[in-house]
Amino acid sequence: ERAALRSYRDVEPRRPDGTLIHIAANLGSLDEIDAAKAAGAMGVGLFRTELLFMRHMHLPSEDMQAETYGTLAAAFAPYPVIVRTLDIGGDKPIAGIEFPEEDNPFLGWRGIRMCLDRPDIFKTQLRALLRASVNGNLKVMLPMVSDVGEVRRTRSLIAECRKELTAEGAAHGDFALGIMIETPAAVFAADELAAEVAFFSVGTNDLTQYVMAADRLNPSVSALNDASHPAVMAAIGQAARAAERAGIEIGMCGEAAARADLVPRFLEMGLTELSMSPASILAVKKQVSGIVEKAAAP
Ligand code: PEP
Ligand code: MG
Repeated sequence: ERAALRSYRDVEPRRPDGTLIHIAANLGSLDEIDAAKAAGAMGVGLFRTELLFMRHMHLPSEDMQAETYGTLAAAFAPYPVIVRTLDIGGDKPIAGIEFPEEDNPFLGWRGIRMCLDRPDIFKTQLRALLRASVNGNLKVMLPMVSDVGEVRRTRSLIAECRKELTAEGAAHGDFALGIMIETPAAVFAADELAAEVAFFSVGTNDLTQYVMAADRLNPSVSALNDASHPAVMAAIGQAARAAERAGIEIGMCGEAAARADLVPRFLEMGLTELSMSPASILAVKKQVSGIVEKAAAP
């Protein structure tokens, strides 16, 4: 059984029209690269940068971040590596950032909201990402987006960073910019957002909590916190149709991406990337290969 699964390590599921379906890894540190590669990860669909910021008693330097993102991009090239910019809030305090007391941290100052208010922290990360993008196929995605202005303001910060790096003579490249679809606002504004970004990635962990108004950490409402609920599936479908209309890619990096009961529906919706913990990759590769091969059979 395990040996049979292992045989899928180098399989690349492809639709009859030639579209590659990326089965990618969610990672939180470089320590997990080997496990992801051993499972046949076709790149990284979500690199959570929080751990880099939580591990130390100070904010990580630009050099340290550039080194980390560059190592990651090089390890998976030519497959894409999607690094998510800092997604932290009052529920997970870190050294070097003062968080206000909030009644509702999940509705508060977190993710892209905090980063745009702290351009010192955000620009350090963006500069590191521009520098690291010479090392492979690096993409960058923004968490918790709920308004198109957040994307536009980020773009102008990236332009500032690029100008600075050029003036300093520092080697740097470029990256595709995408967003997570994890707020209802991003779903309802998906057409407007799709016009501004290169890709979407559905974060079902947060999207489910916000669509169902059910705290993802509260066991009393865990029955409602289900990505297969018709309301959540309708939201994902709406984002997928907006991506298709705009001609951009859509993937998924929430935990639902590895749910065998939902994978066929995500493929039907047109998702071209499913990203998950390395332990789930082989089984999903097998399932997706079976589905796309069946679709190709005469
Ligand atoms: C998500 O919300 O689905 C997601 C992938 O991000 P996180 O679990 O880190 O919030
Ligand atoms: Mg999230």
